[in-house]
Amino acid sequence: MTKQLSPLNPSAAPATWLGVMGGGQLGRMFAHAAQQMGFKVAVLEPALDCPASHAADQLLSADYTDADALIKLAAQCASVTTEFENVSAKSLAFLADRTFVAPSSSCVSIAQDRMAEKRFFIECAPTSGVFPASHKEINSTADVDAVPDDLLPGILKTVRMGYDGKGQVRVKTRAELHDAYAGMNGVACVLEKMLPLAYEISVLAARGADGKAVVYPIAENVHRDGILFTTTVPGPHITTDSAEKAQAATLAVIEQLGYVGVLCIEFFVLTDGSLVVNEMAPRPHNSGHYTIDACVTSQFAQQARAMARMPLGDVRQHSPAAMLNILGDIWFEGKSDEAREPAWDKVLALPGANLHLYGKDTARRARKMGHITFIAPTLEEAQANLRKACAILGIAP
Ligand code: ATP
Ligand code: MG
Repeated sequence: MTKQLSPLNPSAAPATWLGVMGGGQLGRMFAHAAQQMGFKVAVLEPALDCPASHAADQLLSADYTDADALIKLAAQCASVTTEFENVSAKSLAFLADRTFVAPSSSCVSIAQDRMAEKRFFIECAPTSGVFPASHKEINSTADVDAVPDDLLPGILKTVRMGYDGKGQVRVKTRAELHDAYAGMNGVACVLEKMLPLAYEISVLAARGADGKAVVYPIAENVHRDGILFTTTVPGPHITTDSAEKAQAATLAVIEQLGYVGVLCIEFFVLTDGSLVVNEMAPRPHNSGHYTIDACVTSQFAQQARAMARMPLGDVRQHSPAAMLNILGDIWFEGKSDEAREPAWDKVLALPGANLHLYGKDTARRARKMGHITFIAPTLEEAQANLRKACAILGIAP
């Protein structure tokens, strides 16, 4: 089928449907934003009671590789996207033979594979000006023996399927590296040199089907136990020079990918001030949730616009923002197994608090249950209210 490349108006009858692979919180927030513009949203996801199922106009409950379900999704939807990067790239390619898919399966495949991603970043370096951390692919114990001494201490990461710090082991010595690799069950890995991080940032960008790209302000991220803890925008530590460099690098990468949709790139700022590119997510990102409450166009509205080949929206941030991720841990007091609802009434009494809960009925430790974005006239006030929320919810600040 030839692709229809005109913009997709959000018509009501017959409805213009946008499709999403995956039914997590990102799919849920996408549905909210797309529906606000008048689109209908269909979600393909095997789990019946997923966060997006409560928001989507239709849930196609099937495996992500189920050909019948993919055919149905493509027939119904004028455009399809993905809300998680480990979606089968084959499924995206299958959909792309039938409807408009953004981002493309080739872009998503690069982001699914840490080695392909690093090769791509290196290819982009002449225009982006940034490199990934020094690294070596590890596929055998001989590769471990061949690791140059200066890559240690390092972090051993699985090449595929890593997220929230899963599939990563920190190693100081070659002996520890042997042990860590033995624990990876033979999957392809990459060893990265452990870098002296001053702080971490992410840059959210979007590119339309017309090739026009936009870049959001720099977000500064703090992780805890490998999971994003807070995002602060504008970043309190970033210099104008580094900010411009990271934004320009992101635009260079999104351009070279020929990407359509929202893309987020994570960078490290090292103690000497230099910038290193870490990884990219081919979708809206947890560190971009602040855009819902603090920017003219949220990352989810931007994704809907890009999918519908509409003009991209204004990325301007109208208020300083501090976002706190809400993990299931706070439903439990001490070591108790009995879940109880956190004191949302006290949190919502704080000025500029925007609570987003993802509709997950079972709280589990380390499970992302929601987030709160504090907006305020000054960043200091937003940060102070975030700290107050931590005190109320029993989260160490
Ligand atoms: P997520 O998908 O949640 O962003 P991930 O599991 O894909 O995370 P990374 O982003 O690669 O993994 O790493 C997780 C965290 O580990 C980083 O945010 C950073 O704090 C730390 N880290 C990763 N690589 C390095 C490195 N080479 N040197 C120092 N710290 C690192
Ligand atoms: Mg990461």
